[in-house]
Amino acid sequence: MSYSLKVGHLYGDLMNTYGDIGNILVLKHLAKEMGVEMDDEVVSLDQPFDKDKYDIVIFGGGQDFEQSIISKDIQTKKADLTDFIEDGGSMVAICGGYQLLGHYYIGANGEKLEGIGALDHYTEKQEDHRFIGNILIENQETGEKYRGFENHQGITFLGEGERPLGNVIEGYGNNGEDKTEGAIYKNVYCTYFHGPILARNNQIAKHVLMNALSRKYPDADLTAQKQLQVSETF
Ligand code: GLN
Repeated sequence: MSYSLKVGHLYGDLMNTYGDIGNILVLKHLAKEMGVEMDDEVVSLDQPFDKDKYDIVIFGGGQDFEQSIISKDIQTKKADLTDFIEDGGSMVAICGGYQLLGHYYIGANGEKLEGIGALDHYTEKQEDHRFIGNILIENQETGEKYRGFENHQGITFLGEGERPLGNVIEGYGNNGEDKTEGAIYKNVYCTYFHGPILARNNQIAKHVLMNALSRKYPDADLTAQKQLQVSETF
């Protein structure tokens, strides 16, 4: 049995803070180890998002300026992205991308940027402050610990159906108040971790790949893929 997965890099030409594109390199590396072929392409401004074409979507972080452009364009992709998510499509959304999957993001200058509301969170602004630094969290379901680096002014509050990616052990996380970091909704993983998150936390990359394979090949025996050992967080 041969397997293949296609990655859509959402606004990959605009949203790539701190080399978030490295997440795709990690996915490709692990996919190869699993015997899975993978290719990727950027889906950007003025291009439709074909929800039937992609198995995994990567949506990186960015500055307020890029987010203000994307906030408008992404409304044209709202229905297809929402369908993709509801249908169990796999996605990793980071920082600015994470914010725009929710209802709205208030930029540093107070401007309200509309998200697509595919996930039920919203993001307010801090007063002349950013959360910057290393962060350590623990996922409550798996006990896995994830390490990363956060740099955001927005403060995010989770909504219905969302569970945190982890509880904060060190650092700030979603809002500095409720000790949550990131969000998981269906097969979507959201986070404020830059850096790229999948390189430092191979377990998340494996979850994303397994979710995508199980969705595309529901009858396949994926035992060999499941057994792939990935490195622990460092
Ligand atoms: N511009 C957003 C914020 O400051 C997102 C930042 C980012 O993606 N690093 O909160």
